[in-house]
Amino acid sequence: MEKPVLPERALFESLARMIDEALIVYDQNFTILAFNARAEDLFKMRAREVIGQQISLEKAREPQWRSLSPVIYSSLAPTVVRLSDAGAYPQIIKVIIENPHQEFFVSTDQIADASGAAQGFIKVVRDVTREASFVQSKSDFIAIAAHQLRTPATAVNWVFEALEKDPSLGDEARQSAQMGHVAAQNLLKVITNLLNIAQIEEGRFGYDMQPLDLIPFLDALLADAAPVARQHDVNVYFERPPVPSVMVIADQYKLALAIANLVDNAIKYNVSGGQVVMRAIVKDGAAEVSVKDTGAGISEEDLLKIFEKFFRAETIKKTSVEGSGLGLYLTKNIIEAHKGKIWVESVIGRGSVFYFTVPLA
Ligand code: ADP
Repeated sequence: MEKPVLPERALFESLARMIDEALIVYDQNFTILAFNARAEDLFKMRAREVIGQQISLEKAREPQWRSLSPVIYSSLAPTVVRLSDAGAYPQIIKVIIENPHQEFFVSTDQIADASGAAQGFIKVVRDVTREASFVQSKSDFIAIAAHQLRTPATAVNWVFEALEKDPSLGDEARQSAQMGHVAAQNLLKVITNLLNIAQIEEGRFGYDMQPLDLIPFLDALLADAAPVARQHDVNVYFERPPVPSVMVIADQYKLALAIANLVDNAIKYNVSGGQVVMRAIVKDGAAEVSVKDTGAGISEEDLLKIFEKFFRAETIKKTSVEGSGLGLYLTKNIIEAHKGKIWVESVIGRGSVFYFTVPLA
C-alpha cells in the first residue's frame, strides 16, 4: 500500500502559522516567497507588502526595510556573531542592530531541488533582545558587586599578610593570622573569577596573545602554588619535556589563571600526603599539559558537568565548604580562546588528570 502523503504546501503553511519564530523564504534572486505572521510582527511589515518583492542591496537600504534587510544581508548588520561553521548549512548567526537595539538569532538553510541544485533559502529568526537584556543586567550586577567587594577584600588580605609577619605575635595568634590570610586570598580568587566571567559573558574579555615559553612559565606557576601545597601536605612535581623551551602563543595573564585553577584543584581535592604531577609534552603541533592528582577522583556522572558554571560535586560540597564552581568554567573558556582543547580523565578513589593543549607558536 502506498504511504499517505500530506499536501506539502498546506503542511508548510500550517507550520509557518504555528511556530513562534519569524519565517522567511526567498529564492536565488532574493525574491520573497513566504513571510509568516511572526515575521510581520517582528519586522513591522505585512506579508502582502513583501511577498513577490525582490530585495536588492539598494532596496535593502531603504528605511522601511531597516530591520529586515540585515537579517537577509548580514553584511548590512553593524554586528554579526557567527555561531556555526562557515559554509555549512544550516548557518546560524546572531545579528545585532541599533536604534532601537535588537538582537536576532538567525538560522538559514538552503533549499535544493531533487538534483541538489540550490533554489532558495529559508530563514528562521528568533528575537532574543529581551533575553540579551536580562543577561546584560545580570552580568552588570555581578560585575558591580565584585568590583565593590574587591577593594575591602584586598585590604583584609593585606592586613592579615602584614600581621602574619609581625615578630611580636605568639604562635596561636600567628596561626590565626595565617588562616585569615588564606581565607582572604580565597575570597580574592572568587572575586577575580566572578569579574572575569562577567567580562567573558559580555564579550569584553580581551586577549593579548604573545609568544610565551611554557617551561619557565609553568615553573613560576608551581612555585606560586608551593605555600598552598605545604598547607595541604601535598607534594607537587614538574615532569619537564626533554627540550629546553616550548614556545606557544598565549595571553600570559589569562593562561596563568587557567592553569592556577587546575593546580589549585589538584592540591585542594587531594589527600594529605598526596601528589600532584604536572607534565608538559609536545604533540601534533601543540603543547599538551596535564595536571595529575592522587585525590578523590570524579564520578562518571559528574565528569559530564565538571566544566559547567557553578558546578560542584555533592561529595566535595560536604567535605570542602570553600569553592564557587567557577574555576573550571573559566579555565575552559580561556583554553578554548587559545584554540586549545581541555578534557579530564578520572578514576574514583584514585585521582584525576586534567589535560589541555595550546597550539605551538
Ligand atoms: P571550585 O573548586 O571552586 O568548587 P571548580 O570549577 O574549580 O570550582 O571545580 C568544580 C568542581 O569540580 C569542584 O567543586 C569539584 O567537585 C570538582 N573538581 C575539580 N577539580 C577536581 C579534582 N582535581 N579532583 C576532584 N574533583 C575536582
